[in-house]
Amino acid sequence: MSPIQHRTLSRRGFCLCCMAAAGCTATGGWLSPSQAYTEARNIVDLIRDDAAKAPIKVHKLRRDVSILEGSGGNIAVLTGADGKVFIDAGITASRPRILEAANSLSRDPIKHLINTHWHFDHADGNTWMNAEGAAIIAHENTHKHLLVAQRVEDWYYTFPSPPLAAVPTEVFSSDKTVDLNRSKLALKHYGPAHTDSDISVTFPEADILHCGDTYWNSIYPFIDYSTGGNIDGMIKAAEANVAAVTDRTIVIPGHGQPVSNKAELTEYRDMLVPIRDNVAKLKQQGRSLEETIAAKPTAAFDAKWGQFLISPDLFTRLVYHGV
Ligand SMILES: [Zn+2]
Repeated sequence: MSPIQHRTLSRRGFCLCCMAAAGCTATGGWLSPSQAYTEARNIVDLIRDDAAKAPIKVHKLRRDVSILEGSGGNIAVLTGADGKVFIDAGITASRPRILEAANSLSRDPIKHLINTHWHFDHADGNTWMNAEGAAIIAHENTHKHLLVAQRVEDWYYTFPSPPLAAVPTEVFSSDKTVDLNRSKLALKHYGPAHTDSDISVTFPEADILHCGDTYWNSIYPFIDYSTGGNIDGMIKAAEANVAAVTDRTIVIPGHGQPVSNKAELTEYRDMLVPIRDNVAKLKQQGRSLEETIAAKPTAAFDAKWGQFLISPDLFTRLVYHGV
């Protein structure tokens, strides 16, 4: 999210970065698992609570593609005679405001939903969108993760098995092209990155790329090792994203200011690579996780990237895990 949104969250009494920072004690050590469970659980609940109140902001892009911002991850919508196509469904509590925002674009019914990956802040709304009439398309690993309960270790949180209506019915393994509303939508699996289920969604005619959670605009990303993500895969996905766009392309991140571009995407890649190298060097020297966090391998980037949900310490821990 942008600093502006962050301030908005803070004004409403939620400060997600402080909640994330609360995972660390005053002495800089990590809380016990049970203490951390309470804090981390609050992060998930906080995202839900925030979505229950947050207004939905509409950003019109090009050729009938818009972004709805304010319910978990950034949602893209393609309108037209074949019915609306949603890229991600956000949090269920936003339903009335998402419908209001979507109806302000057109009165087409919601006919298709594409999940960029399985996480709750992108797929929680699957059930109600399916009830509205949306067929759900996703990578086969999103299907797999939505069939049963999922544990995310770094959030100390177990998501219960969602209802059957939330489970994608059209799945693919590598790539898939969908033709709707006189637009092509090119879906492509990244391989292991933020999870093992991430896909990109490209609108070639409008020259728009939705990166899902392989790209967090100006904030440190979460990496979910519990369901197949890792830092090297995140870097590989960032490289693929940079290679796929031009200076004219509109780039949609999973989180952060939703209308982005190649320059910002490149800056994101150029943050991930040196932090990965710094942490790998410290780990190769035999430093423990605590010693590596204390060495502040992200310091040069914290002022810009460490101001939201994923604190510098947590991001260091996520990178350390994968090098
Ligand atoms: Zn995610």
